[in-house]
Amino acid sequence: MSDDTVFSKILRGEIPADIVYRDDLVTAFRDIEQQAPTHVLIVPNEPVASAAEVEPRHEAALGRMFTAARAIAEAEGIAEDGYRLIVNCNDHGGQEVYHLHMHLLGGRPLGRMLAHVDDGEA
Ligand code: 5GP
Repeated sequence: MSDDTVFSKILRGEIPADIVYRDDLVTAFRDIEQQAPTHVLIVPNEPVASAAEVEPRHEAALGRMFTAARAIAEAEGIAEDGYRLIVNCNDHGGQEVYHLHMHLLGGRPLGRMLAHVDDGEA
């Protein structure tokens, strides 16, 4: 697949990022537009465009995203209070960058998962 997303550029060191975790399968860095006191993006080192394109060969990296999330949450001091993990997929999911990523958000109460849905769109 094409590998020219902003996240691939971060992984290759071509643009700067505040990297908080890296291992053989995943890398994590702070979101450039922090939506909570902790807002970290966890990405597989091998690019896959979205959750809609994952295959069995990605399972090790997908599992590592969760164990990395746990380690980062503990390092950030937010594990006990709790946090939210989000994977946006494709257009209706609100995905903007087509290199699969997990948002780790925490450091304050995050409220409901979605805005209240009495607008008829639920
Ligand atoms: P999505 O909507 O695709 O789930 O989220 C993409 C996220 O990437 C957004 O929260 C956005 O702020 C973040 N982002 C976009 N460009 C950059 C960048 O150049 N550096 C970093 N660190 N985050 C970025």
